[in-house]
Amino acid sequence: MESLVCTGCRREVDGRLWQARCPECGEPLEVTAPPGGTVRDGAPLLERFANFLPARSLGLHDPAAVLTLGEGNTPLLPLETIGKRIGLPRLLVKVEGANPTGSFKDRGSVAGVQRARALGFRAVGTVSTGNMASSMAAYAARAGMRGVVLVSATIPRAKLAPIAAYNPLLIGVEGDYGRLYHLSLELGPKLGVAFVNSDDPYRVEGQKTLALELWQQLRRQVPDAVVVPVSSGGHMAALLKGFRELYALGHIERLPRLIGVPAAGCGPIAAAYRLGSTVPVPWAEVRTIAKAIANPSPPSGRRLLQAARSGAPLHFLSVTDDEIMAAYWQLSQEEGIFAQPDAAAAVAAAHKLAESGVLRPDETVVAILTGHGTKDLTPLESNAPVRLRTCSLDELPGVLESAL
Ligand SMILES: *Cc1c(COP(=O)(O)O)cnc(C)c1O
Ligand SMILES: [Zn+2]
Repeated sequence: MESLVCTGCRREVDGRLWQARCPECGEPLEVTAPPGGTVRDGAPLLERFANFLPARSLGLHDPAAVLTLGEGNTPLLPLETIGKRIGLPRLLVKVEGANPTGSFKDRGSVAGVQRARALGFRAVGTVSTGNMASSMAAYAARAGMRGVVLVSATIPRAKLAPIAAYNPLLIGVEGDYGRLYHLSLELGPKLGVAFVNSDDPYRVEGQKTLALELWQQLRRQVPDAVVVPVSSGGHMAALLKGFRELYALGHIERLPRLIGVPAAGCGPIAAAYRLGSTVPVPWAEVRTIAKAIANPSPPSGRRLLQAARSGAPLHFLSVTDDEIMAAYWQLSQEEGIFAQPDAAAAVAAAHKLAESGVLRPDETVVAILTGHGTKDLTPLESNAPVRLRTCSLDELPGVLESAL
């Protein structure tokens, strides 16, 4: 069985137990490096990259028992119009909204739920208000397991529907969200619920497949830079792990620069990075439309800041709501790509980085569009840019003619 290592103190921990955090220092655990090998094209995500994953812990030896909803293999598309205008002719987007429940979280959920099932759990849970909740509830249903979703009691009803569709045990909890996160990890093992939260070691393994898939789609090359929206930091930590493992296995000659993008209205990791600190700066008030990139107490913050301090090519840049919304409309209206505001933040950041010369015109840059536009319709509902003209059948030819 593969072992787990603490990302903080590097202590080794028994990999046969369900645990996400180091019993000594409390930092997230991670799976040790994989053996490497071939990529099995055409197979479901976990099987495709089995040689790069903890295959034994995940129980991947039996193909019939490999969980899938068709996650991964998402499009990597050039942004020709936007790229040219902002001076990045080689700007690409990875459309993670094309995953089964509309976000990159599905890559992590499939691995986390597969691991929980391999360990004999009959219930899996998560603490989330959005994409992670619907993703976990979907994979729980697919695996024939009980889903448990703990949300903040103040969650808007509109956000509940896409979670409730899968019928998990859904509980709204009052109180501090950061504490709820840690409480879930404490209660889970006692109650037989495997909580697959943002920094769960197996979720990170699943999410790391995005780095592997980019390498595969770019014909065994990596881009010069990857721009990724950041909240808890779990996704960015997973990408770094994936690229580092490709490097250690000798598949790539350098790591891409990774640029993490929080909302300006809540960026504890970016603020700490600017101060040269390895402790996320606590954030009192969250003010942004992009709630999925605004975690006031990011569980993977220290891990990322420590990696940056010890030389990993990590950078952070926050973007304002105005910058996010400009990118949001450009993506849908000029490129035909509908991404949620939190995802469009990656393109907004690429624009700023091109202006400041951090990203250069000759560089291949991939912006990760983390979630689909239908996951959050707030901008369309509140600003009402939806214009509907009405006319009779008789009037239609004239209306069309004058409009076209
Ligand atoms: C979860 C999520 C993020 C943030 O990912 P973290 O792993 O929490 O940093 C960004 N964008 C979207 C759309 C998400 O659902
Ligand atoms: Zn530790």
